[in-house]
Amino acid sequence: DGFEVVAAGAFIAQHCIFPKVANGRPDASDMAVATDFIKRAKESGKLDISTIKGNRPYKKPGAVPLRPQTDESVCRTCGVCARECPTGAIDPVTLATDKEKCITCCRCIAVCSSHARKFNGIMYATAGKIFYAQNSKRREPELFL
Ligand code: SF4
Ligand code: SF4
Repeated sequence: DGFEVVAAGAFIAQHCIFPKVANGRPDASDMAVATDFIKRAKESGKLDISTIKGNRPYKKPGAVPLRPQTDESVCRTCGVCARECPTGAIDPVTLATDKEKCITCCRCIAVCSSHARKFNGIMYATAGKIFYAQNSKRREPELFL
C-alpha cells in the first residue's frame, strides 16, 4: 500500500492458548529491547524487507480446533465475556460458545475474573504436552533494522 518499511521486530508475549509458554512476557528485559527498538527505528533508513526472516509466500492460517467453554460451577453470569468477545461467539444468555464464530483469540479467558472460561478435553491436554515440550525454552525478541 505504498508504505516504506524502516524496521521490523518479532516480540515475545505470553501464549494465549497455552499460557505457560512465555508466561509473564513481555517482561522488563523485553520492554527495554522494545524501547531501544523504537529509538533505532526512528533513526533508521528504508529496510530491505527480504532481510526479514519468515516463510514466503506466507502460509495460510489453519483453523485452531480448540474453543474455550464456560465452567458453570464457577461462572457468576456477569456477561463480561459475551460483551467482550470480538466476534459475538458467546451466547449472552447460555454463555455457550459458537464454534463457527469463535476465532480462539482467548479474550474471554483474559476478561473473566472468575477464571470460568477455559479450554478442556483430551485434544487440548495432548496438544499442550507437545506444545510445551517444543516451546518452553526462553526466546528473545528478534529485530530487523
Ligand atoms: S466473564 Fe466469566 S463469570 Fe462472567 S459470564 Fe463470562 S464466564 Fe461467567
Ligand atoms: S476465544 Fe475469542 S472469539 Fe472465541 S469465544 Fe473467546 S473471545 Fe470469543
